[in-house]
Amino acid sequence: MLVFLLLGAVALASAHHAGEHFEGEKVLRVHVEDENHINLIHQLADTTQIDFWKPDSVTQITPHSVADFRVKAEDSVAVVNFLKQNNLKFEELISNLKNALEAQFDSRVRGTGHSYEKYNNWETIEAWTQQVATENPDLISRSVIGTTFEGRNMYLLKVGKAGANKPAVFMDCGFHAREWISPAFCQWFVREAVRTYGREIHMTELLEKLDFYILPVVNIDGYVYTWTKNRMWRKTRSTNAGSSCYGTDPNRNFDAGWCQTGASHSPCSDTYCGSAAESEKETKALANFIRNNLSSIKAYLTIHSYSQMLLYPYSYDYKLPANNVELNTIAKTAVKELASLHGTKYTYGPGATTIYPAAGGSDDWAYDQGIKYSFTFELRDNGRYGFVLPESQIRATCEETLLAIKYIASYVLEHLY
Ligand SMILES: [Zn+2]
Repeated sequence: MLVFLLLGAVALASAHHAGEHFEGEKVLRVHVEDENHINLIHQLADTTQIDFWKPDSVTQITPHSVADFRVKAEDSVAVVNFLKQNNLKFEELISNLKNALEAQFDSRVRGTGHSYEKYNNWETIEAWTQQVATENPDLISRSVIGTTFEGRNMYLLKVGKAGANKPAVFMDCGFHAREWISPAFCQWFVREAVRTYGREIHMTELLEKLDFYILPVVNIDGYVYTWTKNRMWRKTRSTNAGSSCYGTDPNRNFDAGWCQTGASHSPCSDTYCGSAAESEKETKALANFIRNNLSSIKAYLTIHSYSQMLLYPYSYDYKLPANNVELNTIAKTAVKELASLHGTKYTYGPGATTIYPAAGGSDDWAYDQGIKYSFTFELRDNGRYGFVLPESQIRATCEETLLAIKYIASYVLEHLY
């Protein structure tokens, strides 16, 4: 009886684990007009522990934008008073994060197994990679491109009909641990590929003429940590010499203007660039795979959230890529395709001017390797739920995103190089 009660308590605790510690925490949005506003938010960040949701850090706030951030329950009154006293325009996006975290699991799909309309934990995704490959041997093969800091296998799915010398599109999800909609999209893409192959002409053609390399979760250790310890974790889980803080921002860890701008040299920062470019096993494995397959990879797509943006190089500099006009036209058409389904509006453009300068990103790095078509997606939403997007939005988000991805892949197919 005691054992039974204990097991019940453990099950209950783990089911709600991701919601712990966030009672009374708020996510606020401040409207930033000028340098004076930026200075005030810096003051706030210097004196209060603040978790920036958008932009990724306080150093990246620009005039005429918004800053979304999470504040601890015990600081929320003081922060709100500070904003009011300084006449900063703000609103409360999330009034109690614990409630929002519980509300994200609103899928009507029942059961505990894998579901494309639920957020799946790593164990479930890992088993899914095996199953989907086994069930579709003529379309999918699974390989391991490396292991994470904590020793987990990084699975890569190659999706496409067998053929010699096929060009390829590489797509990854789950760079940032808390962006749960991202891995959900990679899984959705694979499902739609196998479900519509032979039934829908565009997908059929794509899979006959292209291979898609899908890396469902890049930062697996971080993703596991968001399920078990801290839902708001972003970075990897590697240890840092001389610091008690964990992790590196994998999307600041690539050799593309590494750590020059929009990244931090402090291991405790959420945008820590790491001890060197490719210091993380996860980014190293990804970069090695792309380097080893450069002759076939024609497009690089990386899926993040949130803010509904489609970005292309560069982010580490204000310079524009050689084919910037072409990339702009592709992005414009892709977001139009995306909006055609549910009316979801995306902005688009080069990273540095469209959001903010940030060095060490995988899209810039892939582009500089010679991959002409390199894009970063920032999926739903625009801040209403931010990183805690409800499961009930997975389907619509993935459906619309798929339209944009298929458009880009078709374009690449017609413009092989
Ligand atoms: Zn991200």
